[in-house]
Parts: sequence; structure tokens; C-alpha cells
Amino acid sequence: MASVSSQQMKSVVVGLGRSNNTKIVGFLSCVLDHLHVKGNSASVICELANNVFSISPASDSHHGHHNLTHNTETLSPEGVISDGRTVGPVVLEHAPHCPVRHLSDQERSSLATSQVSEKSVAVAVAVLLESSDGKVLMTQRAQHMRSFPRAWVPPGGHLEKDESLFTCGLRELQEETGLYFKPEHVNMSVLCLWESVYPMMLPFGLPRSHHIVVYLYAKAPYTSDELASKIKLDPEEVMAYAWYTPETITKLRRGEQDFLNVFILEDATSGKLKTETQEISSMFRGGLLWASGETFSGTQAALTRWSHLKTNPISSKI
Ligand SMILES: [Zn+2]
Repeated sequence: MASVSSQQMKSVVVGLGRSNNTKIVGFLSCVLDHLHVKGNSASVICELANNVFSISPASDSHHGHHNLTHNTETLSPEGVISDGRTVGPVVLEHAPHCPVRHLSDQERSSLATSQVSEKSVAVAVAVLLESSDGKVLMTQRAQHMRSFPRAWVPPGGHLEKDESLFTCGLRELQEETGLYFKPEHVNMSVLCLWESVYPMMLPFGLPRSHHIVVYLYAKAPYTSDELASKIKLDPEEVMAYAWYTPETITKLRRGEQDFLNVFILEDATSGKLKTETQEISSMFRGGLLWASGETFSGTQAALTRWSHLKTNPISSKI
């Protein structure tokens, strides 16, 4: 393993290659560039070991599933073997305008002397929690968040040291929404990966954060109404929640109008919510223009993949 600085040791970092021969990815470099991918997606195998999340191309030989010996592995809807430590093959994507791919030499050299050059790429986990009546839980990030304020995202957050992907997903779900599940009570798998950079486009500013986001798919044995009765939003991180159906996502992608009930935190102390009906396109403005047919964010990528699974479970397999 490459040498890891003391700053990097505070959290999980992203590496390239297999876990016994990993090169740590620099903050200002694009992971897909490192994988020698000219397009915007790649099929990869990932391994989480020694607090390094290592990514390698799935086309590498000797990655056969039969080599995995974990006894808790599950077969995800994508045909991915995942146990919260080893994942793949799974699709990694980034936005067509990935800021770290498109930095100019001048921008790169100005950043090289700044603090961000000391940073490493972090790992985050987000959970698409599906209710037994086929809806997925979405949350709106609080206004005061440093990155992606007011964005509609699945619940999630940073992967902590020595944590598995599944443990992290369940912890973040509980912290942000109050929904607690024991790992054995929820069926989880890895849906897809996304390279996320904030701000999302260079015209909005130079990169301040850089993550690999692991999107998990979790099936809860409760209806959306049953889950709603247990939801308590964390005002520090979340300002509202809503349930999306596959039809919601189809309409977002087509730019069609639809209305959703949004449950907005009214009183931070009591957790009291008020219900408001919102037009769906108002939930994805700015760089998240669904109707254009391209995928601009990890949320879009993950929701699209989820809705394909729900509407066409056979053809969406890899
Ligand atoms: Zn990139």
C-alpha cells in the first residue's frame, strides 16, 4: 500500500488497484481518468480494507466471484456480489462535466499550492430505502449545509474508519431520519457508485470536496406509511422528506409535470412536520436538469437505476 499521510488516516480514502497494491487517489485527479476511461462510466470491483476503498477495473482477470469467501454475501438486483466490504462488478459514473477531469493547467497549479492538494478523496454512502409498497425515501439537505444545500438526496454521509458500507448506510439512515434497522432485518446491496465533486461544475467554483459515493439499495419490510410514523428528521442535516415512486422518476426524466407530498420540518425541537404539495421539477433545478437525458448527479444515477430495476427487473441486469 502507498504511504498514507496523517491527514488521510483520519478517514477512509480512495485507492486504485487491488488492496494489496493500492495507489491513493489525489484530490485533484479524476478516478475515471485513472482507470483510463475516456467516457463517463466504468465497470469496477471495489474492496474496503485497512480504511482504503480500492477500485479496480472489473475487466481485470482473477476477480471471479468464486474467490470471495465471505459468508454474508448477498446477490443484489444488479447481479453484484456485495457484503459491505467487497463489491462488484458495479458501475462507477461521474458527470460529463466532472470538474477534476476538466481543470485547466492554470486552475490545477493554483489549487496545487492550496490546502485542497493535501486532501484525499473521501468515501460516502447513501441509502435508497424502498418501502414494501415500492416507494423510495428522499430527503432534502438542510439550508446551512456546506455542500449541496437544499439538494434532494437519499439519506447518507461519510464512511467512518473501520466501518463497513452497510453499517455506515444504516447509521446515516438512523441519524438523519430516525429509522433504525438491524442489518439482518433489511435486505441490502450495492446499486452503483458515483464520483462526486462539489461544486458540481467549474463555473460554480474550484473543487472543495471530492467523494466516491456508494449507493446502497435497501428493502424495508414496512410500508411507507408505517415508516413515516417512525421518521424523525435531524434538523442539523435534513429539512424535509418525500417518497418517490418509479413513475415520479420517469416523469422527472421526461420533464413531465407531477406533484408530490413533501413533509417539511416545521419545529426542530418537537420534530413536527407540515405537508406541502410541490411540483417535482422544482426539486431538481440548477445542474440537475433531468429532462435533458443525461445524468448529472449521483442521485439521478441511483434513482434511474432503481426505477429501471422496479419497472424492468430482467433487462437491467448487467
Ligand atoms: Zn471524474
